[in-house]
This record gives sequence, structure tokens and C-alpha cells, in this order.
Amino acid sequence: MQKLKNYIGGQWIEPTGCQWLDVENPSTCEIVAQVPLSSARELDQAVEAARQAFPGWAATPADRRVEPLFKLAHLMRENMEKLSRTITTEMGKSLPDARAEMKRALENVEAACGMPILQQGDKLVAASGGIDGEVLRLPIGVFGMIPPFNFPAMVPFWFLPYAVAAGNTYVIKPSEQVPCSLQAIGELVERAGFPPGVINIVNGDRNVAEAMLAHPDIAGISFVGSSRVARIVAETCARSGKRYQALGGAKNHLVVMPDAKIDEVVRNLVTSGFGCAGQRCMASSAIVCVGDRVHDEITAKFVAASREVIVANPLDPEVADEGMVMGPVISKAAKERIEGLIATGIKEGANLVLDGRGIRVPGNNRGYFIGPTVFTGVRPGMEIHATEIFGPVQVILKADTLDQAIAIINAHEYGNGASIYTQNGYWARKFKLEAEAGMIGINVGIPAPVAYLPFGGMKASMFGDIKGQGKSVADFFTHPKVVTERYWPEG
Ligand code: NAD
Repeated sequence: MQKLKNYIGGQWIEPTGCQWLDVENPSTCEIVAQVPLSSARELDQAVEAARQAFPGWAATPADRRVEPLFKLAHLMRENMEKLSRTITTEMGKSLPDARAEMKRALENVEAACGMPILQQGDKLVAASGGIDGEVLRLPIGVFGMIPPFNFPAMVPFWFLPYAVAAGNTYVIKPSEQVPCSLQAIGELVERAGFPPGVINIVNGDRNVAEAMLAHPDIAGISFVGSSRVARIVAETCARSGKRYQALGGAKNHLVVMPDAKIDEVVRNLVTSGFGCAGQRCMASSAIVCVGDRVHDEITAKFVAASREVIVANPLDPEVADEGMVMGPVISKAAKERIEGLIATGIKEGANLVLDGRGIRVPGNNRGYFIGPTVFTGVRPGMEIHATEIFGPVQVILKADTLDQAIAIINAHEYGNGASIYTQNGYWARKFKLEAEAGMIGINVGIPAPVAYLPFGGMKASMFGDIKGQGKSVADFFTHPKVVTERYWPEG
């Protein structure tokens, strides 16, 4: 069994005297690795390594700073299949999902290779009489990242490659539930030739994360996880003057209008709602049908299609390459929480038209499986609508008009993604302007932006102003120092 290490100052180090946590394959409950729960001491060592590496790295010419990123992209491409299997083993998503995750991580490395252009400043000649104004976009120092469990490889890459390409140095604490993927990528980071201390990995749980938030030598934090913790991250960083971008939870609504192409919608609903067992921050989790006819047709066809989803260990060779395989949820605790919310929905009076509890997966009696689950008769304000279930549970609501559907979305605590299905340009335009969500889909079930565009939500789905990935993240990792200069004539 693999015992994971920390990567600090270019060395793989096994911490001593700490506790170890078992990393479980959620499909089989087999222990696949042990992760050290490091202490503030290991974090201090990593931050010190990053702090010492900063001046030299910041002064390295921009084109040389992206050289190891080009190499890393090449190594990630070469190791794509192995890394995808590592993701599936520790997280439980299907192999096609894991490959898509790796592809997006890689895209972000490639996008960050454009930093010599993204980081260019501005100059205004003759800002005043004989005076020029100039904006320099300078690296800042040591940045930290705290990721969630559901995208162990991709989410860190919304930030890390941009941070280091801009001349900063980096410390990342992987999610303790899925630390193996970043360990494997860390080995490629080592081979890519970054100078020691530029990228550091410290394994651990919330204790390391809290030490990062408190550390005086960390200039900024990128966090992705639940809104409860995102809020703590934002408040703690604001108090100590750190930069932060804290992306939180979601409840993504998908509105179906009377003119929607229903068969396409149903296909999208199944992959959006049940891919990754509903554990995607961009998964559709609340379907709003506009009108009775749409409601009845969507319910009938969606429930029928959901019954066809293959629930299995995603590494089972018989199904590994199937497009729509649904693996387990991440842990026993997650399974119990989700099943508890299904029981709540029944108590609240919603109709459980498809119940995924108690599903049997032949050959995998111990995994944390829940089958596709669908509620109808759900009203805004019910707990199963208000709460982020983060599992394979869809709630169907009814609205009479588009205005009512948008009002349901806008009254919700979260605002990560929202989609509309319609062929009508007026409805689509109204939706994209009025729906309060940071990422909008029009006839798209998972409106997750590609690496070249910003990723992040509104309301409780994101605290902070600068989203992840894309060209705008360069603003998070640079300080726009403004120079006003003039020279007098000689003699
Ligand atoms: P989580 O908030 O439980 O944990 C996220 C990270 O925070 C982990 O690394 C954990 O060790 C650390 N942590 C836990 N408690 C902490 C504390 N008190 N202080 C500091 N750090 C702490 O989230 P999770 O269960 O790993 O991930 C699922 C959540 O992430 C869902 O809510 C999902 O919507 C969200 N998510 C959001 C996005 C997005 O783009 N908005 C993307 C992916 C996941």
C-alpha cells in the first residue's frame, strides 16, 4: 500500500510523529493508500521553501518560467490514462469523467503557458504634460490552495499553473479524501524541472488548511469546497489582509421551457444530474419545468432514462468505457447524509418517484452506491430544494412562467450555474441577463467553462471577486503596481 509523502523544497519527505489517514476506494472500500495528517510544522517548512524560492523565480524571465509548464503539459498528456485511473480509484467517478477531468487540468496548464502575454501591463504615454503612466503586473509572493474532493486533479489547476507562471511560488494541501492524484501529478512536477520550492505539497486535513489561513507569509488563498468553509476562508483572509478567492457549494437549476427539445433535454439531464454520482459543482440538481405538459413529459421520460443508468464500480472492465456509468459517492458519511436527505424529502411531502436507496451492485457489496433518485412535487423552501445534496438526487419543481422560474433561482442561496432549454431567443436572452448564477447554460446541461474562460459562481457559491482559470485569474496572482514618471530636458 502506498504511503504518501509531502513535497517540500524539491524533496519528497515523510513526516514523522503524525497521524495517518486511510484513503479508501469508495467502490470497494479497499484501502489504497495512507495519507499523513501533517502539522503546522510541515506547513511552515513548505512556506519557508516557497518564500526562499520566490525572489529568484519572480526574477526569472517570463518565457523561462513557462518552460517547465510546457514540459508538465507533455508529461500529463503522456500519463493521462494512469492519472485518470488514479482519480477513479480514489474518487469513484467513471473513467470517461476522469479522462475529461485530466483533459481540463491539462488545458489549464496550456492556457497558463500564455502568461508572457496574459501578464503584460499597460502604458499611457502622455498621461499628463510630459508624464507617462505605466501599470506593471508583478508577482506577489507565496500563494496557497485548498481543494475539494470531487475534482482531485482539475480544480487545483484552475489556479496553480497561473500562479507559478506569473512568478509566484505555491503551497497546496490536497483534499485528504483523495490525495493520490496530486501525489502522482507532483511526481510529474518534479520531473518538469521547476526549481526547488516553487511548488510544494503538504498533505493533511483542516488543521493544515487552518494553518495556511493563519500563515503570515502566505499572500493569498484559492479555496474550493463547501460554502460553509468558503465563508470561513473569506472572513479569515479578509481579517488578515490576504487575497482570497473562495468558491463554494451549489444548487444548479435547469429550466425547461415549453418549446424545448425534450429528448435532448432528457439526455443532458441524465449526464448532468447523475454523472460523477451528482458530486459535481456544476451538476444540475433542481429541474424547473415551465407548464404542466413539460412537467409530465419530462418526469416520465427522465425517470425512464434514469432507470437505464449503469451503477457499477467504474473500474469493472465490463463497463469501464461506457459513457454513462455511475460510481459510488465518496464515503460512508456522504452516503448516510444523502440517504438522510432522501428521508427528509419524503417527510416533507415530496413524491419519491425513483428511489436509489438500497441498490445492489453485483460483486461490490461494500461500496457506497446510491442509485439515481428523483423527487417530484417539490416546492421552493423544502429542505431538499434548499440544501446542496451533492449526490445522485434530482428534485423536479413546477413553474407557470419563465418569470416564476427565474424567481425560484434568484431566491435560492446558491448561484453557481443555471441552464435554460429553449429555442426562443427572447427567453434565452432574458434568462442569461436575469438569472443570478455565475455560469449560464443555454441548451447545455453542464455549463462549465473551458480553461480559457473564468470559472466561478455568485451569491453563496463564491466569495471574492476574481474567478478561477482564464485570463482574469492573472489579476489574482499579480499586483498592478502603477508608475507615474517624468524626466526634465537636459541643460
Ligand atoms: P469541504 O469544504 O468539506 O472541504 C474542502 C477543503 O477544505 C478540504 O481540503 C478540507 O480539508 C478543507 N477544510 C475542511 N474544513 C475546513 C475548515 N474548517 N477550515 C479550512 N479548511 C477546511 O468540501 P468537500 O466536501 O471536499 O467538497 C465538496 C464541496 O465542494 C461541495 O459543496 C461542492 O459544491 C464544492 N465545490 C465547488 C466548486 C465550485 O467551483 N464552486 C467546485 C468543486 C466543488
